[in-house]
Amino acid sequence: MSKVHNFSAGPSILPQEVFQQASQAVLDFNGLGLSLLEISHRSKDFIAVMDEAQALVKEIYNLGDDYEVMFLQGGASLGFLMSAYNMMGANKKSAYLTTGTWAKKAVKEAKSLGEVVEVGSSADANFNYIPKGFAVPADSDYLHVTSNNTIFGTQIHDFPKTEVPLVCDMSSDIFCREIDAKQFDVIYAGAQKNMGPAGTTLYIVKNDKIGKSSMKIPTMLDFKTHAEKESMFNTPPVFAIYVSMLVLRWIKSNGLAKIGQTNAAKANALYTEIDRNAMFKGTAAKEDRSIMNGCFLLNEGLDEAIGQNFLDLCKEANINGLKGHRSVGGFRASMYNALPLESVETLVDVMKTFESKFG
Ligand SMILES: *Cc1c(COP(=O)(O)O)cnc(C)c1O
Repeated sequence: MSKVHNFSAGPSILPQEVFQQASQAVLDFNGLGLSLLEISHRSKDFIAVMDEAQALVKEIYNLGDDYEVMFLQGGASLGFLMSAYNMMGANKKSAYLTTGTWAKKAVKEAKSLGEVVEVGSSADANFNYIPKGFAVPADSDYLHVTSNNTIFGTQIHDFPKTEVPLVCDMSSDIFCREIDAKQFDVIYAGAQKNMGPAGTTLYIVKNDKIGKSSMKIPTMLDFKTHAEKESMFNTPPVFAIYVSMLVLRWIKSNGLAKIGQTNAAKANALYTEIDRNAMFKGTAAKEDRSIMNGCFLLNEGLDEAIGQNFLDLCKEANINGLKGHRSVGGFRASMYNALPLESVETLVDVMKTFESKFG
């Protein structure tokens, strides 16, 4: 098989070695003569997987026993509702930073439970920047932010300092760089962008926020249910958790600092070319550009039809997944952790070829 440069936005690229280990576990797990897919989630072999995955999350983000790590289901889309339910205090009032499509969906879920103050929004400019310098009402139960806006290619590089608890949808940039994870009370992330396969959602929750909601929460949506049962209240998605655990091992062995540097180098290579190349223009404000999702359009005055020529050149070079989200159009290069710098360099070469042939 010739090498495919996989820029898919999600589900997305994972380390090759993880695919090899995961396929082995499907055939024969730990030499048991059984597949990972046919053993009890309560067997000692699977419990070891869950324990290791949870421990790796804490180790990579330098978190102690004051945090609970859970691997649940429902995607980040259920996380919008679950985080709101669990963080709702007596005021039933929350603050949201509206930075894109996913943030808007989070707002919608919170509004079904209480009052929502949108402290900032970049809807006025098709979400091409991150609002800054906003005030958060002191009586809010929490502030919710989206660290990386997958569709619009913006990312928070400096998290707001706030007195109220901080909740973050980190679906598309979890483990992409070193951060101070202790500033968050809740982090949640669908696994399928930067951590593993679709099917599990990671929750990292400060212990003192569990079981404190003012709401009567349905059993399955209550952090307490899952924290007390070590994410095994019901059958967990064993395969998705196993593969996530393998990716977490890969992250640990590479080191988050080095992963962050490589991601910065990839993003720098792409954005340098977008800014240099007369055929393209970037869509996100420069200081808010995402190191995970680089969004760009054909430059003004160019006929939309020649965009297809660019995609054709990409296809010839084995570049996959570059078409932008339908709400933005153009192109989006997702550069998640497992994407090598070499793939970005290949894309940059194709951008240059496109300019020389069609410019
Ligand atoms: C993809 C994505 C979601 C939705 O995740 P699901 O797991 O599909 O529900 C939410 N937030 C962000 C930032 C995303 O990138």
